[in-house]
Amino acid sequence: MPDLTLSIRFLRGVGEKRAQAFARLGIFTVEDLLFFFPRRYEDRRTLTPLGDLRPDTFSAVVAEVASLSARPAGYRSGPFSISLTDGIQTVRAVWFNNPRLELQLRPGMRLALYGRVEYRGGLQLINPEFEVLEGDEVETTSVGRIVPVYPLAAPLSQRWTRRLVGTVLASYGGGLTDFLPDSLRRRHGMKTLPDAVRELHCPEDRNSWLRARNRLAFDELFLLQIGLLLRRRTYAASGYAVPIRPGRKFQALMGPGLPFVPTGAQRRAVAEILGDMNSKTPMNRLLQGDVGSGKTFVASAAILAAADSGVQSVFMAPTEILAQQHYFNLKGMLRSQGIETVLLTGGQRAAERRSVEEAIRGGSAQVVVGTHAVFGDEVSFARLGLVIVDEQHRFGVLQKNSLMAKASAPHVLVMTATPIPRTLVLSIYGDLEVSVLGELPPGRTPIRTVRMSAGMEKTLLDLVREHIRRGRQVYWVCPLIEDEEQGEPRAVVSRFGRLSSVLPEARIAMLHGRLSMGEKENIMRGFSEGKTDLLVATVVIEVGLDVPNATVMIVEDAGRFGLAQLHQLRGRVGRGRAEGVCILLEGRETSPDGRARIETMLRTSSGFDLAEEDLKQRGPGEVCGIRQHGVTDFRVADLVRDRKLLSLARDEARRLLETDPWLESAPLLKEELDKRLGRALKLAGTA
Ligand code: ADP
Ligand code: MG
Repeated sequence: MPDLTLSIRFLRGVGEKRAQAFARLGIFTVEDLLFFFPRRYEDRRTLTPLGDLRPDTFSAVVAEVASLSARPAGYRSGPFSISLTDGIQTVRAVWFNNPRLELQLRPGMRLALYGRVEYRGGLQLINPEFEVLEGDEVETTSVGRIVPVYPLAAPLSQRWTRRLVGTVLASYGGGLTDFLPDSLRRRHGMKTLPDAVRELHCPEDRNSWLRARNRLAFDELFLLQIGLLLRRRTYAASGYAVPIRPGRKFQALMGPGLPFVPTGAQRRAVAEILGDMNSKTPMNRLLQGDVGSGKTFVASAAILAAADSGVQSVFMAPTEILAQQHYFNLKGMLRSQGIETVLLTGGQRAAERRSVEEAIRGGSAQVVVGTHAVFGDEVSFARLGLVIVDEQHRFGVLQKNSLMAKASAPHVLVMTATPIPRTLVLSIYGDLEVSVLGELPPGRTPIRTVRMSAGMEKTLLDLVREHIRRGRQVYWVCPLIEDEEQGEPRAVVSRFGRLSSVLPEARIAMLHGRLSMGEKENIMRGFSEGKTDLLVATVVIEVGLDVPNATVMIVEDAGRFGLAQLHQLRGRVGRGRAEGVCILLEGRETSPDGRARIETMLRTSSGFDLAEEDLKQRGPGEVCGIRQHGVTDFRVADLVRDRKLLSLARDEARRLLETDPWLESAPLLKEELDKRLGRALKLAGTA
């Protein structure tokens, strides 16, 4: 059996320089080279007779060298041209900057060429790739077939690499062992691994290539899903959760006394969560719901049930302001049932923090609302049973795990308002159950989104005045705290100054990250209580703030913000019965990408659609705000295009692990899993 771990240094033609160039591409062994796939292909199957060449096309031809033209005297590297003939027609080929051609080409040689055809006083092939043909051979590595184009850099050339890969495929390709169980492969009519790899380098036709590509993409997705399911099992085995059941407190607050009628989606989500928590197997659920869909209500139902069952809950928010908002709301609601709620944030004074930590350790604090501070080593819980993480995209997966280490196996509910597309949920958290709040509470009017150029200040101010006159409130969000240079005010501080002078009748406040905790708190409270008409702020207000009377959101220099952020900002208005309007200001300096995002916002109101769009524009790692440690660095698979394959991979992974929990029937698969994902997923206990 050929040894795939052989260093490419031992391959003929690979010297130190080329080996270094390959190393930069992450290629060290024969196997790496086999899995180094082309970036694109050129269809050179059709050979064009010289008489049929057309300008501005790429064509493959086979022809004989009729004559060489000398370079202009004194030039070693000037253009060099030859004339080609196929016995009927003559055409020139020209190369620029190829000093060695005189030494390689002779009249009478047969060449296969591929390149761009141009009309320059006659048809010419410009800088064509060529190969010298022996005897009457026609099929070569460069014409007569679909030709791979690799993502290469000098000194590696396409032609040379193609040949190298060709020989390596011939002598080592057979050494690829198929790690997919045969039955699975057959069931879906998939190519074998060696066939698929070969086909990706030398495709026969579009259809066959597609099958090969799908097989390899499936492999990547399938291995990831197996890895995630195994990881989940390891967690589950790490301890039993305390079963949580709703009782008296839950009934008291979730019954007829509610300030509103829960939506069907909210009721379903609560039922799913109660179902999960009523078990010794820890819940691991994602609650997806667009901005304003009422996730907090669902969370509070879970917290009440936890309190009924005598365990502590943690509610994690991404910012201090949000933590405070949730703290005040929850405390107000839970107090009537004698449930003690505490706040734990990094901004608290040391003495205050110590007493809060004491209450958590002693168990008198039953509900802890907090920020990252809850992750601190000094925080330990008397009996943690439920962890709720709000706005998951702002936390790393790893942090969530560190919190889970604080209890043997708490139930976990992750909530996200910038909905992570299902594709991504499956690929990154293949182990999560998902509840969706697919409807907004009734009575909301849709938010109008408008684009305005930064110069239309008068129109804008008239609109602001009108809303304030009607008793409504306005957000004005700026990308910076202070301006970097002189000019139009675009930052919070200068904007605040300017608005104060042009809107003397309005009560205006500003909010940004440089204020102290106490100041921020006061300003937020003033705005929620309607004592402020206009709040000039940075994106600190981006997520979660809930002031139903606010009807206008103005975003200064909107092109600077990402789609997810813009959607979050827009979601701050339209939370009550009055129509909300979101005004995106576009400046002269707005980048083309920024403009595109603004246009997407005008077109799209659903957070789910925006998230999909975001995924296309930026890629998964960015969208989640977390680096995936290579978990989703696929070579072939594409999360946006391969949804169907992804769910197939998930089904097959489940099916396999159900019948063979330790992968005993598939040792090769286990080996491959460890090789590709072992480090990324830390498959403790499965090796
Ligand atoms: P999000 O999902 O963005 O976190 P919130 O939980 O902040 O949404 O809820 C948004 C607003 O809608 C809050 O003012 C909340 O009280 C209100 N709300 C939640 N559920 C309902 C409902 N079923 N009917 C009416 N209003 C609701
Ligand atoms: Mg929220």
